[in-house]
Amino acid sequence: MDCLFCKILAGEIPSTKVYEDDYVYAFKDIAPQAPFHAVIIPKKHIQSAADINSENSIYVAKIFEAVATIAKENNLGQGFRVVTNCGEDGGQTVGHLHYHMLGGRLLAWPPG
Ligand code: AMP
Ligand code: ZN
Repeated sequence: MDCLFCKILAGEIPSTKVYEDDYVYAFKDIAPQAPFHAVIIPKKHIQSAADINSENSIYVAKIFEAVATIAKENNLGQGFRVVTNCGEDGGQTVGHLHYHMLGGRLLAWPPG
């Protein structure tokens, strides 16, 4: 399958690991939008948030357990944002479910 994030999972494309467990891999975004910017992905190919269902939602739960751990390990006690872009209008550019975790500065709301 021609999926950039599956290739990162397979180690075919290098990444800088932030967190890993049996369900989840997180790595530094190559184009960071904040002092801390990680991409958190399931270790299973799920296309987007529109494809989450009762069969695969364990991965989403595990991702959010990882978020809490990543926040503690990276001194994000002042706060952070977790966001997933879904589909064309949502600005999704990689078709493997992922959550951006941003922090280290005051983040504007709403996003553009
Ligand atoms: P999205 O636009 O929401 O689909 O997010 C995709 C994200 O993946 C963007 O923030 C990119 O900067 C990031 N990205 C793309 N290629 C890589 C890579 N090789 N390593 C790390 N992050 C990447
Ligand atoms: Zn994939």
